[in-house]
Amino acid sequence: MVEFEIVKGDITRFPAEAIVNAANRYLEHGGGVAYAIAKAAAGDPREYIRISKEAMREQIGRGYIEHGEVVVTPAMRLEKHGIRYVIHTVGPYCGGIWDGDKKEKLRKAILGALRKAEELGVKTIAFPAVSAGIYGCPLEEVVKTFKEAVEEFRKEARGVERVYLVLYSEGDYERALRVV
Ligand code: ADP
Repeated sequence: MVEFEIVKGDITRFPAEAIVNAANRYLEHGGGVAYAIAKAAAGDPREYIRISKEAMREQIGRGYIEHGEVVVTPAMRLEKHGIRYVIHTVGPYCGGIWDGDKKEKLRKAILGALRKAEELGVKTIAFPAVSAGIYGCPLEEVVKTFKEAVEEFRKEARGVERVYLVLYSEGDYERALRVV
């Protein structure tokens, strides 16, 4: 059984075996949670961008990822929190607009990371609210899509036991808890 838990915290120090990065398709890690993870992992965010792009070339074979495709990089300095891997996924850009297409792209982005966690053999995985920041998707819809994606994943999960959705601000956390 896969448990889904909404928590408040900073994902760069969240003790899950894998954490997910809300990346852009080029893994540039220029702002938001991506920049925070890159800086915390490598010290110099530019170094983590270099590592991510190299990993993308090796794992995907090109210089960008589509929704549902993910890239794995080592946790480096995040290992002191028990984190072993960073899984980069790309959610949809909404700019305030939400529709079926955005939802499908987000569902793919979440499931791609969950399936990679299975492949990596980890028991715990933590996500930020992918697309609910700079990409401007409504937080409530993002949380709802997380719940549905985890529900879908339950049917195929073998090793993953716990999925965390980590909200950074108190306000977002309160709003996320109210989503049914
Ligand atoms: P996107 O471009 O996919 O919207 P962002 O990085 O802008 O990605 O934001 C995604 C979510 O991550 C936002 O809700 C933002 O508040 C949150 N966030 C930012 N920093 C952190 C952090 N250190 N830990 C967890 N969540 C974070």
